[in-house]
Amino acid sequence: MITTHRSKGEHVSETGSANIGVVGLAVMGSNLARNLASREGNTVAVYNRSPERTRLLTDEHPEAGFVASETIEEFVASLKAPRTAIIMVQAGTGTDAVISQLTELFEPGDIIVDGGNALFTDTLRREKAVRETGINFVGAGISGGEEGALKGPSIMPGGSASAYVTLGPILESIAAVVDGVPCVTHVGTDGAGHFVKMIHNGIEYADMQLIGEAYDLIRRGTGKTPAEISEIFTEWNKGDLESYLIEITAEVLKQVDAETGKPLVDVILDQAGSKGTGVWTVQTALDLGIPVSGIAEAVFARSVSSKPAQRAAAAALPGPTANPVEDVDGFIEGVRQALYASKVIAYSQGFDAIVAGAEQYNWDIKKGEIAKIWRGGCIIRARFLNRITEAYTENPGLVSLVTAPFFTDVVATAQDSWRNVVADAAHAGIPAPVFASSLAYYDSLRADRLPAALTQGQRDFFGAHTYKRTDKDGTFHTLWSGDRTEIVTEGSSH
Ligand code: NAP
Repeated sequence: MITTHRSKGEHVSETGSANIGVVGLAVMGSNLARNLASREGNTVAVYNRSPERTRLLTDEHPEAGFVASETIEEFVASLKAPRTAIIMVQAGTGTDAVISQLTELFEPGDIIVDGGNALFTDTLRREKAVRETGINFVGAGISGGEEGALKGPSIMPGGSASAYVTLGPILESIAAVVDGVPCVTHVGTDGAGHFVKMIHNGIEYADMQLIGEAYDLIRRGTGKTPAEISEIFTEWNKGDLESYLIEITAEVLKQVDAETGKPLVDVILDQAGSKGTGVWTVQTALDLGIPVSGIAEAVFARSVSSKPAQRAAAAALPGPTANPVEDVDGFIEGVRQALYASKVIAYSQGFDAIVAGAEQYNWDIKKGEIAKIWRGGCIIRARFLNRITEAYTENPGLVSLVTAPFFTDVVATAQDSWRNVVADAAHAGIPAPVFASSLAYYDSLRADRLPAALTQGQRDFFGAHTYKRTDKDGTFHTLWSGDRTEIVTEGSSH
């Protein structure tokens, strides 16, 4: 029997009454279920493998009117057709287990949504397998953490357009809303949603590392305290850099540890953890041949931080001591500019990866729409995402975000400061890997000639890998170990 817990606490027997269900009631699933239940018109079925979690949720939130089940069969029977269930369980084998249970019980036309943090290639595999049964499978990236799940996340659903007809209004009802627009859109077919969520997380890594570098430079360059730097970030949050990450940085920096009276940031162990989505982004970008150097450096920065043995062994290596800068205000403004320019590069690279993924997997991804749904609910929500939407609206075929007029202006204004900050960091011995790599990427893009020509020469020398010429078509090889004449290996028109 299925029991409905109503707001007044009475228990009502009911079947097939819920328009949406949630499987997996840990923090994300519970909050998402509560969010769904709080929206007009939704009746929410809930189920968790261990019934204790289900009971806890329904006991603590009788107002939600959840239709709770203790078996998956009851759960499925509690859903209205077309049945729609969102899975919020531990990514990996947990997700596969629940998909297999639901596939057994669902009917063609029903919709299984995986709202967990799945690797998009897993979503591709799952979507293909589930689609063969006639059931719809939607991999939906959900960003915003537990608070977002409860109050309004940014949602990136993939899957078929027909499934979105049913699912869309439900997701729109729970998503964050910015300027009256819900932060959800049908991203593309099969794994497109989880792909875009992965890139979101990759950008988040770069954004966070850039903020960390800015903090470190200001602290070591000016001697300002975390509380003073908190005020700087609060100020920055009123301008171009306005974003959730800048806002929470100010909060973290002003926090004082109750036990020691020190700034909390000084008692937190400086070894950054991760759940792997940054690594996925970099691995995927490497496979696609897209330089996401800012994201990669951010992932590596966390790796370096988490190597205490190497860091201890290297602590005595020689290097300069950071001397206080003379023009404190000028330096801080320079760091702000460098942060803004580097951030533009990180987003530009992230969108390059989205474009390449869309080409590779045949997804019709609207870049401007992605920037739009990232404006609220998610971790990288920021004012300047509007500018990205505008850039792609003006020119959907934009080859690189940084070449859009608005962003070109940003880097043009920032570049002197950006260069000075990167040079200052190097002179002072302060690591600024994402600032530096973003600048190197920018200079690589704008270079008239790159030393890649020499690389090609070297490759041809040791491996006869051939090269192309600037002045004629065809593929060439120099007989390096012979008389060093050049031969045509493939189709020269000359
Ligand atoms: P979680 O700790 O990742 O997973 C715990 C949940 O998974 C429990 O409900 C657990 O059920 C269930 N589960 C594990 N293996 C299972 C299996 N074989 N069969 C059935 N259920 C199984 O929970 P979470 O932190 O709420 O995250 C849920 C999903 O959202 C994950 O994919 C996560 O990556 C994603 N996500 C999390 C966040 C976040 O901020 N936490 C943000 C975005 C996305 P039992 O209670 O029975 O053990």
